[in-house]
Amino acid sequence: MSKILIVEDEAEIAELEKDYLELSGFEVEIENDGEKGLERALSEDYDLYILDLMLPGADGFEICTKVREKKDVPILMVSAKKDDIDKIRGLGLGADDYITKPFSPSELVARVKAHLSRYERISGREEKNDIIDIHGLRIDKTARRVWVNDDEKMLTTKEFDLLTFLAEHPNRVFTKEELFSRIWEMELVGDIATVTVHIKKIREKIEPNKSKPQYIETIWGVGYRFKV
Ligand code: CA
Repeated sequence: MSKILIVEDEAEIAELEKDYLELSGFEVEIENDGEKGLERALSEDYDLYILDLMLPGADGFEICTKVREKKDVPILMVSAKKDDIDKIRGLGLGADDYITKPFSPSELVARVKAHLSRYERISGREEKNDIIDIHGLRIDKTARRVWVNDDEKMLTTKEFDLLTFLAEHPNRVFTKEELFSRIWEMELVGDIATVTVHIKKIREKIEPNKSKPQYIETIWGVGYRFKV
């Protein structure tokens, strides 16, 4: 699981970023003070840093520069001012990306994923991940990411769990009831119709031809089966 450090003095923004990143399967820590953030950034190991620019204590410029001297992992800089972004780009501090506030949390998550995957590719760490690869469908269970013919598909948590469960048990037919109890476990919300809805969404995302699904097959009157 990738570990991320957010250094951000606006607690609400930091929490929002954390929530979204955690939903995507990341482990996230927050530091609200620049000085402490810098100390933690250097003393602990993280896979990616999200640094706000204007911070009490040490600012984002300083943290970025010092982290970059020691580590080569991705750094994302966040700023409320577009001008500052232009300025830091010009300074060449070694940040990998710049985001202007306000930004949508999903935009942040998408960028984090992109930078982590690029970094993992470069450093060759991806091999360690637990991967299912079937007919062009690639599920990285460790990073919780899905590709179809190298195109990344964005699945929600439950869509991912459902698809992964089916793919891990290929050629086995599961009823909607079984799938619901496996994936939704003890949750009291929803019913077996939820399974149908999720299967439909997954197909929209991963099937090249929705009317002729090549991955998840409907077994009429019974349930679903992952075809191999
Ligand atoms: Ca700030």
